[in-house]
Amino acid sequence: MKFEIKERDAAGRICKLTTKHGTITTPNLMPVINPNKMLISPKDMKRLFGTEIVITNSYIIKKDENLRNKALKNGVHKLIDFDGLVMTDSGTFQSYVYKKEDIDPIDIVEFQRDIGSDIGTILDVFGLPDQNKKEAEEGVNETIKRAKTSIKIKKDMNLACTVQGSIYQELRKKCAKQLSEIDSDFFPIGGVVPLMENQRYIDLIKIIISSKKGLDPSKPVHLFGAGHPLIFPLAVALGCDFFDSSAYAKYANDDRMIFPWGTEKLNDLIELPCSCPVCIKYNASELRKLEKKQRILEIAKHNLYVSFSEIKKIRNAISQGNLWELVERKASFNPYLIEAMNVLKLNDNKIWLEKYEPISKPKALFYTGKNTIHRPIIYRLHNRLLSRYNSRYKDTVVFHEKNKPYSRCFSKEIKKILSKNNEINIIVDSSLGPIPIELDEMYPIGQSVFPCLLDRETEEEITEFYDVFTKNKNLISWIGYKTLKEIKLTKKSKKEKDLDLIKICAISDMQFGKNASKGLFNGKIKIVKSKNTEKIRNIYCDGEHILSMRASDGLFTLKIEGGRRLHKFFKSPNLRVVIKEDAIPFIKDGKSVFAKFVKDCDKNLRPYDECLIVDKKDNLLAVGRCILNYDEMLSFNFGVAVKTREHI
Ligand SMILES: [Zn+2]
Repeated sequence: MKFEIKERDAAGRICKLTTKHGTITTPNLMPVINPNKMLISPKDMKRLFGTEIVITNSYIIKKDENLRNKALKNGVHKLIDFDGLVMTDSGTFQSYVYKKEDIDPIDIVEFQRDIGSDIGTILDVFGLPDQNKKEAEEGVNETIKRAKTSIKIKKDMNLACTVQGSIYQELRKKCAKQLSEIDSDFFPIGGVVPLMENQRYIDLIKIIISSKKGLDPSKPVHLFGAGHPLIFPLAVALGCDFFDSSAYAKYANDDRMIFPWGTEKLNDLIELPCSCPVCIKYNASELRKLEKKQRILEIAKHNLYVSFSEIKKIRNAISQGNLWELVERKASFNPYLIEAMNVLKLNDNKIWLEKYEPISKPKALFYTGKNTIHRPIIYRLHNRLLSRYNSRYKDTVVFHEKNKPYSRCFSKEIKKILSKNNEINIIVDSSLGPIPIELDEMYPIGQSVFPCLLDRETEEEITEFYDVFTKNKNLISWIGYKTLKEIKLTKKSKKEKDLDLIKICAISDMQFGKNASKGLFNGKIKIVKSKNTEKIRNIYCDGEHILSMRASDGLFTLKIEGGRRLHKFFKSPNLRVVIKEDAIPFIKDGKSVFAKFVKDCDKNLRPYDECLIVDKKDNLLAVGRCILNYDEMLSFNFGVAVKTREHI
């Protein structure tokens, strides 16, 4: 199995997964196929919804003599007449629901292998939410034991090893870790159906996060049994790649229709608020009047149209960098989901999410409500303001937020202030918290949109941060030119204070690390601006081009000469990606760094960070942009880890 990251947002990702039955894109949805009664054939699913992968139950196939013989003879793909990817389940869920104990954990894996399943599943022990910890632990231990024996007999089949552990987070993490240490190919997160059925989303979110914290990030993750699109965006944002849906058929049987916001009974609808082919063909009363069998089929189709379209929305959101917005908007549809969003605000989880959060995104940050201020990118901004930003002076003028960019909006005032006193900080009291004026064009500060009136939670968050950030400062609130009187007159320094220089120093400290500006700008600096926009474009130090500033996000791209300076200034492992010996010729040729050639890297590198590519003796080879973070670089075997920009 080949699995590589193509695009990313939050802890979610768009990946390519390749098995011998082809390459598919994730996040993806696998409809559940019952080989005994196919409501819609997999072939029709491919034609109607673009279905690329399905899941069917090997236990049901094995139990039925006719199906078993056919599957063993021609393979599972022929049996269900599908040429895409087929995943098989082992009967774990059946043994939980019907208390079946007639499944042998080894036999069922061998059987899946023998019928040519692309991804077979171990017979794990289904953990129940109301189990006590000891029972849950026994189940986890048995699951790990079975995984270890199953691995030995899987041969060239990909093996899915299911993470169990009931609602106990330490157990989930432990199970995930141990399954990652053996050679598993695919990780379902199991035991979540009872939680979904009772809308216990708080537990669900905790389980996903604790499992993900223990899992090898280079393998696909499947939220097993979660088939309602309401939960898809959040699960993807936390790093789930696959969902399966039996809900499409189960709900159709009860005349229930899936919508992006939840489920509706057909009988409660006077209109069909959907424009899928089914809802175009029939109106609500026509659909109701259909003969039962036909009605179930049509509703099942509608359910799949909606489910697949939700997957497409998520992929777009990842690509545009606004997955958190989709998550937050979706959460507002369901009170239990609103509550579950609070799990993301716990400090441990913020720390974990921040590691996967890209440095910058193609789209501006849009406020949706009280959850926005807790996004990992704002958490990072606040952390870096405290740990990396050099807040130089005690006296601090505070502007109240107005139009962006702030430095242009307040340019006249700033000039007046600096002509009187150029040893003073200027900050803006903004919706993101206190923002030093020189950082006003950096992502996400210049690229965020908040309403004038904020909710209380956001107000409290930013006030709390404001107090921390401005502690021990002498604050002067700007209420018009009369405030100038409060500003001390200092002896004018010989040189006018250069706002552009302050700007590039502050941004490089925030982006590359504390005091990075000292290493970068230790010579004669020339700043080249765009003639049209007057925005900073290129920076030269002693005649050498060291940095360019991107107009889109106000962050720097690193040139090789800038790389040399940072390499000299920061000791290893700062900003480094260390590559293996055999990749050196490729890097010297300007090729990108593939994950399998990464030997080590700086733990603090984040997706889309600029980095230094070095050999094991710390010789600088090139500069580039990270696609992966630390954990991913060291675990992925496929795909690009760093896009090389310039080499020596
Ligand atoms: Zn529809």
